[in-house]
Amino acid sequence: MAIIVQKFGGTSVANPEKIKAVAERVMKLHRQGNKMVVVLSAMAGETNRFVDLAKQMQKIPDPREMDVLLSSGEQVTVSLFAMAVKAAGLDCVSLLGDQVKIKTDTMHTKARIKSIDTDRMCRYLDEGKIIVVAGFQGITEDNDITTLGRGGSDTTAVALAAALKADQCEIFTDVEGVYTTDPNVCPSARKIDRITYDEMLELASLGAKVLDIRSVGFAKRYKVPLHVRSTFTDTEGTWVVEEDKSMESMLVSGVTYNKNEARITISKVPDTPGTASRIFTPISDAGIIVDMIIQNTRASHLTDMTFTVPRTDYDKAMEIVEKIAGEIGAESVTGDQQIAKISIVGVGMRNHSGIATTMFHILARENINISMISTSEIKVSCVIDEKYTELAVRALHDAFNLEKENQPEEV
Ligand code: ADP
Ligand code: ASP
Ligand code: MG
Repeated sequence: MAIIVQKFGGTSVANPEKIKAVAERVMKLHRQGNKMVVVLSAMAGETNRFVDLAKQMQKIPDPREMDVLLSSGEQVTVSLFAMAVKAAGLDCVSLLGDQVKIKTDTMHTKARIKSIDTDRMCRYLDEGKIIVVAGFQGITEDNDITTLGRGGSDTTAVALAAALKADQCEIFTDVEGVYTTDPNVCPSARKIDRITYDEMLELASLGAKVLDIRSVGFAKRYKVPLHVRSTFTDTEGTWVVEEDKSMESMLVSGVTYNKNEARITISKVPDTPGTASRIFTPISDAGIIVDMIIQNTRASHLTDMTFTVPRTDYDKAMEIVEKIAGEIGAESVTGDQQIAKISIVGVGMRNHSGIATTMFHILARENINISMISTSEIKVSCVIDEKYTELAVRALHDAFNLEKENQPEEV
């Protein structure tokens, strides 16, 4: 008997009819003799609604209370799913993070999974029950509820698949797999049949939210092959797997965008040893992950420091930075939340020059200003005004010929 873990995202369980359809899909595999473990997200829009509610109570919502609130959306869908299965005459049990004992650290709203206890799940599976687990949530040593960061239900699913040594882990969503860019933004986006963990990690880290980055990290570490596919069709999706020789090595494999970051600039900072540490240590102590950092030197021993943080941490980061700016005698602190980071990604870029230049050229042709740039061996990222995101994504996808399976060597 195979153990199959299937995760369904928010749009797949957006209303009672859709939950019933998902239950049908799962029951079919159960009837064929498989042991089914299902992970569900909250109904589409619910988690965002909770975030809005919280902000009406507190400018920077208390993280512990935020997790009590955020985790409630998944409690709704798993209970309804279990009822749908029982109504069809099969046995099913819903489990929350604490009941599965998904132990995490204490970093509320972005907690990391430390361990999972499979005893209870194995017992239920042996009894022939379908198990439905609330995604995105865990529990600390002190029994406080935590959540795993937005999109974290993917991570719950892969972590469960790893812990249960499942035969399959399928991520069901509202598109047919992983594409060369977001198919909802660029109609010529092409579905990728197979992609390596490393490339998927890069795409996810740069904004391709079709898979949560931590889920890909888990999948890579525990060698869980992932199948990303659509809830609404039976089409084969994308396999995220280890690299093998038959895989195409693309010059550029995808274009991503990330609208979840914000920019902060501290102007006229004294250019002395230790300044960067004074600024970034308290930010990191607050659990805020800084992404791009640019420092440019002015005349007269002054410098400007610009960096990006997750938009959800913007208010907290600003509070910290304004305090330090006063202490170190910087002139001013400014910020912009309406930015987007556009990236091109591909392992094939390692051995090619001119890719970044092409990107700059295309953005210039579209009259899009670049405010920050960062590069690595296999990616180039540019920060631009958020309102040009879609235009930039389509122009780059087109320029790098990503709609075609076989790209020319040079573009
Ligand atoms: P779920 O609620 O099922 O977890 P998400 O909204 O988190 O779904 O992720 C699916 C969405 O990811 C798609 O609807 C699509 O707009 C977006 N997306 C962004 N980049 C990509 C990509 N490269 N391939 C596929 N989908 C992408
Ligand atoms: N409901 C959570 C979110 O919207 C977790 C998830 O859907 O994966 O981020
Ligand atoms: Mg998601």
